[in-house]
This record gives sequence, structure tokens and C-alpha cells, in this order.
Amino acid sequence: MNQVERVIDRTQKENGGRLAPPGSSGKPFLGLLIITCFALVGIALLLWWVPYVGLKNIHPSLPLILAICFGVLVAFGLGGALTLVFTILWGKNLFINRKARGVVIRFLFPLLVVLGKLFGMSKDEVRRSFIAVNNRLVLSEAKKVRPEKLLILLPHCLQFHECVVRITGNIENCKACGKCKIKDLVALSKKYQVSISVATGGTLARRIVVETRPEMIIGVACERDLTSGIQDTYPIPVYGILNRRPFGPCFDTDVDLQLVEEGLAAFLKNEDHEPKSPGASRHQ
Ligand code: SF4
Repeated sequence: MNQVERVIDRTQKENGGRLAPPGSSGKPFLGLLIITCFALVGIALLLWWVPYVGLKNIHPSLPLILAICFGVLVAFGLGGALTLVFTILWGKNLFINRKARGVVIRFLFPLLVVLGKLFGMSKDEVRRSFIAVNNRLVLSEAKKVRPEKLLILLPHCLQFHECVVRITGNIENCKACGKCKIKDLVALSKKYQVSISVATGGTLARRIVVETRPEMIIGVACERDLTSGIQDTYPIPVYGILNRRPFGPCFDTDVDLQLVEEGLAAFLKNEDHEPKSPGASRHQ
């Protein structure tokens, strides 16, 4: 079992809890996706049935031709949705991963936000599920990059609120006092020789991505920022890790260092980069 399979396996065992906080598995997203499929089949049937009666009068073969066209469309849509569901559930690359990620990011997510609202789900609930699904697709792509092509992107709120050191622009200005996880994250970036940056918002994050031109991003942020980051940077894969907010949003937030290190080990080419033992870097 390689590193990627181990991360996926652990994700399956822990029901998504390692990719995101408890309750944020990809299941709600999958549920909404299946409901969307049924709704689309219903609409297609209706669209076929309504003109069916009238079309017969134009030409006797027209209803059959239209039925075949709708059948192909429905089979195509359902086939795509089922492939996506199996890719997410099994974590295996089913040839269409990158495209599947594109469909999820560009079309399904906005659609499922609306549908989720109808079913009483909060936006953050759908976003957490979307991030978990995105991570599954990114992991199952099993893409490995060189360290210089991997970027760790962090939110500014991880920095201890009283710290006066300016870490945006250059995170290595951190004095490593240990009052926040920035110290450990800088150490991790040095250990794995990857780029690391802090962004104060979406605009700066986009600029950092344009300047560093990564092939893989490990992003730490809240539901909203991670979701928009994943959408903005597509097709660059983003492995999303939700921050913890023990003091509320945007204030002295926290991150699971083990998740960051597992992400590094999963996406870096050099096998020596595997963590020595599970939980070895755990600080909480
Ligand atoms: S670890 Fe670095 S960023 Fe965090 S409080 Fe200390 S000096 Fe500031």
C-alpha cells in the first residue's frame, strides 16, 4: 500500500474526519448528487414525454429518435455521476479524475449549494462536504510533485494575535517563539523543502499562486476561503485542510500538523518524505 492509499485508507476508516473536522465527510455532497441525478432523469423523461404526443403527428419516427437522443443524454449524465460516486467512494483513479474534479468544482458545487439550501443544509455544511470530496479526488489522482512545485498556503489568522512579526511576504521572519503553529509549519516546510506562504485574503493568495506557480497546493483555511481557493486555482489540485477555531473565526486559529505532514508525504515524489511514525508530529 503506497502513501496515497494509506492516507485514503485512514480517511475511509475515520469517515472523513482526518480530512476535515467531524461531521464533514463527503456523504452530504454524494446524497445531493444522487438527488440531482434523479431530478435530471425526471426532467429528461418529462421533456421527452410532453412532445411525444405531438411529434407523432409530424413524423411517426420522431418520438423514437427523440427518445434515443434523451436516452443517450441520460446515460451519459448518469454514467458520469456514477463514475464520480465510485471514484469518491473507492478513492481509485478512474481515468477521469481531473475532469471529474473540474465538473464538481465548476458545475456541481454551485448546483448543490442551491439544492442543499432547499434541504435545510447550511452553506458551510455543503462546503465541508465539497472540500472532503475534492480531497478524495485529489488523493485518488495520486499526483506526485517535486518539493519546489508544492506550496503550503496558510491563513494569517494562524499567527498569535499579539505577535508583531510581519510574516506575510516572508514567513521566515517568524522568530519561532512557539506561541503559534507558524513555527512548526516553517519547520515542516524546511524539512520537506517546500514553499510556504501566508495570505491575508483571496487576492493575496491568488498572487502568491501566480508567483510561485505550484503544481500542488496544500491549503489551510476556513470553509469559505478553502472553497473559493479550490475553485479559483483549478486545475491546480488543492488538498484542503480546515483550520480549527477554538476562539471563533479569524482569531488565533489552529491546524492539525499531522494532516499537513501527511499531505506532504502523499504528494511529494521522494518516498523518504514519509513521516517516521503516525502521529510523530502531532502537537495536540
Ligand atoms: S511562532 Fe512566529 S508567528 Fe507565531 S507568535 Fe511566535 S514569532 Fe509570531
